[in-house]
Amino acid sequence: MAFTVCPFCGIASDKAHDSQEACIDALQDEIDKTRELLAAVDAARSDETPAARRQDAQTT
Ligand SMILES: [Zn+2]
Repeated sequence: MAFTVCPFCGIASDKAHDSQEACIDALQDEIDKTRELLAAVDAARSDETPAARRQDAQTT
């Protein structure tokens, strides 16, 4: 599968977007992906905090 970087928004996709709407859609997708990634990192981090571990020990 060949990837192209859209010259307008700079997001890698299968082809350059042919309209502003397509670029905005792609940007929204990227934002969603980034949010999910950050949420996953945050969740992993809070699992590792000593405070969370102590709470875990108390509740179980
Ligand atoms: Zn684009």
